[in-house]
Amino acid sequence: MQGISHPAAVAPFAPPSGWRALTPENDPWDPIRSLQRFGRHELTSVELTVTHLCNMRCEHCAVGDSLTMKEAPHLPLELVLRRLDEVEHLETISMTGGEPTFSMETVRNIVIPVLKYARSRGIRTQLNSNVTMDYERYELIAPYLDVMHISFNYTQPEDFHEVGFARTGRNVSADTTSKMFERMIDNTRKLTKGGLFVSAESMINYRTYKKIADIHRIIAEMGCQRHEVHPMYPSSFASGLPAVTRTQMFEAVETLLDNRNPDIWMLFGTLPFFACSENEEERRLVRRLWEENKVTVRNDPDGRNRVNVNMFSGDVYVTDFASVPSFGNIQQEKLDDVFAKWREHPMQQAVNCHCPAASCCGPNLLVSDMYYRDTDFKTRRAIP
Ligand code: SF4
Repeated sequence: MQGISHPAAVAPFAPPSGWRALTPENDPWDPIRSLQRFGRHELTSVELTVTHLCNMRCEHCAVGDSLTMKEAPHLPLELVLRRLDEVEHLETISMTGGEPTFSMETVRNIVIPVLKYARSRGIRTQLNSNVTMDYERYELIAPYLDVMHISFNYTQPEDFHEVGFARTGRNVSADTTSKMFERMIDNTRKLTKGGLFVSAESMINYRTYKKIADIHRIIAEMGCQRHEVHPMYPSSFASGLPAVTRTQMFEAVETLLDNRNPDIWMLFGTLPFFACSENEEERRLVRRLWEENKVTVRNDPDGRNRVNVNMFSGDVYVTDFASVPSFGNIQQEKLDDVFAKWREHPMQQAVNCHCPAASCCGPNLLVSDMYYRDTDFKTRRAIP
């Protein structure tokens, strides 16, 4: 195990010395690693939902329906840490919300203790945040964090206003949101300058697919080390939003590859394009993604090597947006036992294919539901 070492004075948020850097070659969140190592999917990653409070109401938010104005009490932290202790192959912990930094109580009582726990065990961490709150709270968190994961789908304050506040149910002035937008950019710059690894995620959707290269440029200007790109699949709270076609998605990915900053790691996820596709153009794109320097396609962790734990109820889900009902609870069960049940679940089995030659372990559930309802992936193989 790697122990805690104090952050260097020059880059206060840099990882402890001696820890292997997170790079395209070292992405501990990718389930292909544990599949290769153990010969089957194992639980190596736990995501904790630490709050249902948020200062925004993004139109695409996967958990929008569960956001609240008042928080219920958390389960005792000792119980959660004990359950994490029991996970035999635990490598990563992610924390999500809501906005995990919205309440200082959550920051002090949950976020920082979990991060310190992870550092003491040599476990990598990610926090999903909109980084629009005051910088001081990020400064408290950053020395113990590996990846600050932010959403970034904007080229100007007007986009931020439309995307982030469409569903607040109250009138938030353009002036207020413009200040938040500036603060988000300013906070990100300060964090990356301080040595923190910031991964900015953009969705390819009806708003962004034509300006994705401009979004990428701004992400690079903020100093982010990674740009993570996923298609948006309208589900749950976002089910009313228009979907982009596969062709538009294809074009957006190609545009990004043509215009990307070569110094930034581009991570694509949940794409609907596979090495087993009968469509030659899609296979060509898959090959291009594979061959380009500093570009990776991460297999989807949800239900492969990761589960989500709700820190209020203890319920365990495959994803944080709960379109699949909970299949266990940490108040009664060990996480490895809950995961073993999921591994045998028909929904997991339906997409449980693996082509080592393509480093692929199948589509995620939303992709398969949206584009491949009649496809049996277990009968398909990657085409060389
Ligand atoms: S692992 Fe599944 S989705 Fe990936 S290339 Fe093979 S058959 Fe296709």
